[in-house]
Amino acid sequence: MMFRILFGLILISSFATAQKINKADKKLLTALQKHTFYLASDQLEGRRAGDPGEALASAYIADQFKHNGLSPKGTSGFYQPFTINDGRQIEPTTNIVINNKTLKAVEDYEILSNSCNGKTKGEVSPSINESGQPWFIDLADAMEENKENKENPHFDINNLLSEKIKNAKYKNASAVFFFNSAGNDIIKFNGKDRSEQTPIPSVFITKAGREKYLNDLSNTYQVEANILLAPKIRNARNVVGFVDNGAALTVVIGAHLDHLGYGEDGNSMIRNGAPAIHNGADDNASGSSSLVELSGILKKSKQKKYNYLLIAFSAEELGLNGSKYFVENPTISLNSVNYMINMDMVGRLNDSSKTMALGGYGTSPSWKEMIDAVKEKGLTLKYDSSGTGPSDHTSFYRKDIPVLFFFTGLHTDYHKPSDDAEKINYSGMVKVVRFIQHMIEQDNPTQKIAFTKTRETQTTTSARFTVSMGIMPDYSFSGNGVRVDGVSDNRPAKKAGILAGDIVKQLGEHKTPSVESYMQALSKFKKGEKTTAVVLRGDKEISFEILFQ
Ligand SMILES: [Zn+2]
Repeated sequence: MMFRILFGLILISSFATAQKINKADKKLLTALQKHTFYLASDQLEGRRAGDPGEALASAYIADQFKHNGLSPKGTSGFYQPFTINDGRQIEPTTNIVINNKTLKAVEDYEILSNSCNGKTKGEVSPSINESGQPWFIDLADAMEENKENKENPHFDINNLLSEKIKNAKYKNASAVFFFNSAGNDIIKFNGKDRSEQTPIPSVFITKAGREKYLNDLSNTYQVEANILLAPKIRNARNVVGFVDNGAALTVVIGAHLDHLGYGEDGNSMIRNGAPAIHNGADDNASGSSSLVELSGILKKSKQKKYNYLLIAFSAEELGLNGSKYFVENPTISLNSVNYMINMDMVGRLNDSSKTMALGGYGTSPSWKEMIDAVKEKGLTLKYDSSGTGPSDHTSFYRKDIPVLFFFTGLHTDYHKPSDDAEKINYSGMVKVVRFIQHMIEQDNPTQKIAFTKTRETQTTTSARFTVSMGIMPDYSFSGNGVRVDGVSDNRPAKKAGILAGDIVKQLGEHKTPSVESYMQALSKFKKGEKTTAVVLRGDKEISFEILFQ
């Protein structure tokens, strides 16, 4: 599950209580427990997409699929590998030398996140800027001015830097070395920064670096720099298994296998503190374990009017990357898919309320009848009509496929290292698995069920901001700007004419190269204010007047 900001509602789950269950359910419960304890063990280090723990998790699920008699339906056996663009990284050949002394990265200098690559060499005095030479630029005055000029809420350090770099380039500087003689180190390299690249190599010399290597700004120094940044790629993989009954229609059942690792991607609820393994037992070892058991159940099922495609998605937590990759590169015809069932966080059924949330209820008029026909007692169903939400069913909904999303509720361990296997309600998981099994088995398909469009749910709330545009950003988009996945009715973006597929490049004077910078830009506006959004549609840039309400 990938809520970017936690919703207000938190359901506290109680511990599993012992219940009398039949032999088959007991066997199912034991198997679910075994899978969940393994997937959520410290050995898998939080199953972060692209890391060894995720490889172990996907290997385990592929093994289980094979054991259950499924045929491989990935692109490499059961696996469907894909890559994640993870920003840029500083290559080891990068170095800065002043008077024959090599500076230490981070301690003595930071490369600007959007610096271009390049080499420079010169003999310069930091107090004199000459054409054809590297320039030294003190940021102290500009920072001071900003401090005094408190009424300017739109101050943006990146705008300041980019102005100064442009000016230096215009005057034929070969590179820029910023520093802040007033003290603070104000710049940190961020590989996720997707701002436009600088026209000349750009570096920030820290306070420590300045004191060690530039202690007299009126002196002349021999400066040499070689900056090399390269794309950072992570390799992830979906696991895809198929039960081929030779039927015309296929049911897709999915659950994401990845989680947060040690929280390196900034999606943990714990912001400060030592890195800790986020085991993700509920999110989503619970869904992955249920997927494994459903694969065996459906392989043996008497319901042969369907084929079954079971997919464990990776990189859900980064922005539904795995499911987006699958629907763009499907290994069966998406036209043959009757519906998609997604399980994300199904391990915390509350034993007193027994509430199970069903998302996507509005995506087909047939859901009501199909759900009503399930005889399963002991679950209180709560419906959400929207086909979009913070998990992988959204990717299928966007391909006009009816979806049903199973979710037993948020809790205080959500996206924390304490989401552990001991806290899972395994008899609750048995109920969820049986519910899905029975819904599929009592179904008597003659033709595809109808698909209906629903309203959009936003995965981010406006809780931290006073305004929002009403767009759903595409978190997996790695280009420059914020790609719009969907727009909400009656919200500023829709009213202004922004459409799904548009790429928001700028809000007012704030460039928005990434979702993070877009959020930051939003926080600068208040209700009732107007601004201009610059949007890329196809290859045309269009400006829209936005009125925040
Ligand atoms: Zn999650």
